[in-house]
Amino acid sequence: MSKIKERLLAEYDFRLDYSGVQGERLASRIQAIANIGLTNDLGSCRIGFSDEERQAKELVKQWMTGAGLEVREDMAGNVFGRLVGKQNELPVIMSGSHLDTVPNGGHFDGVLGVLTALEAIEAWKATNVQPIRSFEMVIFSDEEGSRFNSGLTGSQAMMGYLANLPIKDYEGVPFEEVLEKNGLSADTFFSASRDPNEIAAFVEVHIEQGKQLEKNNKPVGIVTGISGLFGLELSFIGQAGHAGNTPMNDRKDALVAAGEFILMNSTLPKKVSSSAVSTVGQVHVFPNGSNVIPGEVRLSVDVRDIHKDSLEELAGLVIQEAKRIAEIHHVEVKWEKTLDVAPVPVERKMQELQAESLKENGIEPIYIPSGAGHDAMIVGRQIPIAMFFVRSQDGISHNPKEWTSLNDCVTAAHVLKGFLEKLERAL
Ligand SMILES: [Zn+2]
Repeated sequence: MSKIKERLLAEYDFRLDYSGVQGERLASRIQAIANIGLTNDLGSCRIGFSDEERQAKELVKQWMTGAGLEVREDMAGNVFGRLVGKQNELPVIMSGSHLDTVPNGGHFDGVLGVLTALEAIEAWKATNVQPIRSFEMVIFSDEEGSRFNSGLTGSQAMMGYLANLPIKDYEGVPFEEVLEKNGLSADTFFSASRDPNEIAAFVEVHIEQGKQLEKNNKPVGIVTGISGLFGLELSFIGQAGHAGNTPMNDRKDALVAAGEFILMNSTLPKKVSSSAVSTVGQVHVFPNGSNVIPGEVRLSVDVRDIHKDSLEELAGLVIQEAKRIAEIHHVEVKWEKTLDVAPVPVERKMQELQAESLKENGIEPIYIPSGAGHDAMIVGRQIPIAMFFVRSQDGISHNPKEWTSLNDCVTAAHVLKGFLEKLERAL
């Protein structure tokens, strides 16, 4: 099976092969990883801590060794490859992502972040560049969390945030057993925790999983921050009654209130910031009968923004509006916070250096907030981060149809390399 490589190369502009970066090598590697866990739909299935994720890690380790890196794996299965710099004692610059996928995922999510970091190293090697600081590329374990309904396991373990290990997967297989198959152990898992002072900065290249870059005709963009999230469950409580015998002016219809709230909710984010979003994704109506006035409606509200202040403001507005609307319709409203995750902004200084690297590669910078979580979100709680998004065709991801052209992948490698060189001079 070499269809992915063929398709990548068919569209490739070989003029992008310069400064030691090679499109053919990158395409071969994307193909080689895609071959591990290839599904019937030609997607990828490399669940965290599965044999497939393990095989992919082992393959990349071989490439890392071939590139002259010092390779090691921690007790959470995170793989590090260190390129020793001129001043090896300084905190490192780190870049990478993950190799695990969702059950029938694509070939670029995670993989591209690992391979662009490796491509930067290959390019330095080919052009006899030794960085000042040591550089580490990383493969984080189990980012997607598809098997244990968790996620970001490796990065959390490295940062010392993992309070509890998952217990069982969806088939009842204990996590410990899964770890043992991977040559890991629950007893030593937490020793993966690393002193944050060893790491000066972390950079992640990732496919956008959205359409902003495509719409703006840009191959690569700057992530301004990773959204925090407030999850709310709202309940509008009215009174169920007969749909025929209750006059319109004597009703406490919970669904009418909920409907007005849903509409209003969609207008609130722009009041606080241009990056904020708020979504009602789940609605449960009780008793849910065609001839019964709805007595209760429970709905979920997912509120996100990259700025802490506006996120809190928006969550406050959501509740305030729910109360106001409930009063108008003579129903009660209750709410419960189901999730509270702080946003991780990217420092302005980082974004400026990112913009310089983009401009040097002939790309006018574009700035995009990330609504989805990534390993960089975990690392970024204590360590300065930067993130680049790479154009995804039709914004499709977590799907075999996920696609990023080789031109865009290689451009991302150039942008990353240029940025890393600027970053080590700026630190
Ligand atoms: Zn990912």
